[in-house]
Amino acid sequence: MSAPNKSGWKPQMEAAEGGVPQGPQTTTGNRALMLEEPLIFEIGHAETTGVDLPGIDPAATTRLNGLERSEPIGLVGLTEPESVRHYTRLSRQNYGIDLGFFPLGSCTMKHNPRLNEKVARLPGFADIHPLAPQSTVQGALQVIHELGDWLCKLTGMPSVAMSPKAGAHGELCGILAIRAAHTARGNPREVVLVPESAHGTNPATAAFAGYKVDNIPATPEGRVDVDALKARLGPDVAAVMITNPNTCGLFEKDFRTIADAVHDAGGYVYCDGANFNAIVGRVRPGDLGVDAMHINLHKTFSTPHGGGGPGSGPVVFSEALAPFAPLPFVRKYEDGTYDLVEEEKREASRGQAFGRMTAFHGQMGMFTRALTYMLSHGADGLKQVAEDAVLNANYILRSLEDILHAPFADSGPCMHEALFGDKDFGGGLSTLDLAKGLIDEGYHPMTVYFPLVVHGAMLVEPTETESKASIDQFITAFRSVTERALAGDESLKQAPYYAPRRRLDETAAARKPKLAWSEPEV
Ligand SMILES: *Cc1c(COP(=O)(O)O)cnc(C)c1O
Repeated sequence: MSAPNKSGWKPQMEAAEGGVPQGPQTTTGNRALMLEEPLIFEIGHAETTGVDLPGIDPAATTRLNGLERSEPIGLVGLTEPESVRHYTRLSRQNYGIDLGFFPLGSCTMKHNPRLNEKVARLPGFADIHPLAPQSTVQGALQVIHELGDWLCKLTGMPSVAMSPKAGAHGELCGILAIRAAHTARGNPREVVLVPESAHGTNPATAAFAGYKVDNIPATPEGRVDVDALKARLGPDVAAVMITNPNTCGLFEKDFRTIADAVHDAGGYVYCDGANFNAIVGRVRPGDLGVDAMHINLHKTFSTPHGGGGPGSGPVVFSEALAPFAPLPFVRKYEDGTYDLVEEEKREASRGQAFGRMTAFHGQMGMFTRALTYMLSHGADGLKQVAEDAVLNANYILRSLEDILHAPFADSGPCMHEALFGDKDFGGGLSTLDLAKGLIDEGYHPMTVYFPLVVHGAMLVEPTETESKASIDQFITAFRSVTERALAGDESLKQAPYYAPRRRLDETAAARKPKLAWSEPEV
């Protein structure tokens, strides 16, 4: 492992056999202030308790009517400081947007402004209950309504469903509305067309909603092949699902032509709006002929990707699909009051609602954060968000296209993300090795091996929230690791050296996950 590498990079600690770096052996496994942490079942015991409770009087009567637990539950007993330390140590092994640049493509990992957090924690939003009388939560209903209004205006669409809890959930909502609309005309149809480059959730959604999925090929320049799509349209096609900007980081210039052709064939146009960050304030999908589109609030509108509660993927609908959108929805009255329209109160506007997606609008924390973000930026600010995100991605594309394969660099400027493919890496090295090398440089890797249409794909999305200095530093690190890959630097095969864990068996982790703790085999 100590073979000199051509790029001059060497791990600070010489790697021993098997690639494990040798440092001073500590008794704890800790490395300075980077603390090792076993599983909670390895540090605690089910026989111990974290607090002392008075013994139970065997003669005491119980109010549980025979439902009391008869066997121990098997949870470990830890003291409060032990539990707090366990989870704090685990959290330090995590990487997040508050720790460093997170270039994961197609995910729009942007900064979560602290102002959003402040507003989300106001007790009037944070402490309300979904079953509270509607007269007591008028402010919350107003937030949902105003956020929906912003989404309709930004997308140029007349209607919105706020209940879906993620992008993929929004896709399902959109396709179920499409299914309901076709069914109302007598036939749900059979097929949903999805481009080759689509996010995996698109075909999964269509299949989940009972449709057969047919692929549409891409042109060599990375866009939907319009002729192939037109040739495939017919009375069996319920919808097309197209991502715009697409997952190759390109704007689908022929979207309007595609939408017209789909409508002429009696189908609907679903747009995957996950990449809306690149066009927000600049393009209104409604003008392109979209019938339904989800918006990932955790991508474009800066809410956390996770955040201690449900996420949010609202769906905007065209005039044609609006009646089929799910219940409940928030209605505003002329006197400025709001209510949540449920089954028994539905009216013509959603007279044919397909049903409901969730029990409650539990994503209040996401709604408040997203609306705060919109109000603090204003319409002009949101337009600048898109412009700066696109500028940053093009800066990365042009800074690295000399050493990486940039398959669509000739198709014009990219949108929000720069797409690279592997090229001439030496020594059998792959995109995966390069990604692992970036971890040692302190970066969460970019998205790899997606989209599938590019060999060894690497998808880098800086977003508008990175400064030029932080992007330059990333480019330097990316360039250095790429040069090592081109030079066939074998040490990359063992990377990462400095992460809390080394390479995992990714196939076994996906195919044979161990989801429950068991006594280690010795
Ligand atoms: C993120 C993403 C999705 C899925 O969104 P979730 O909120 O993660 O469910 C769908 N399509 C594309 C293109 C995406 O980037």
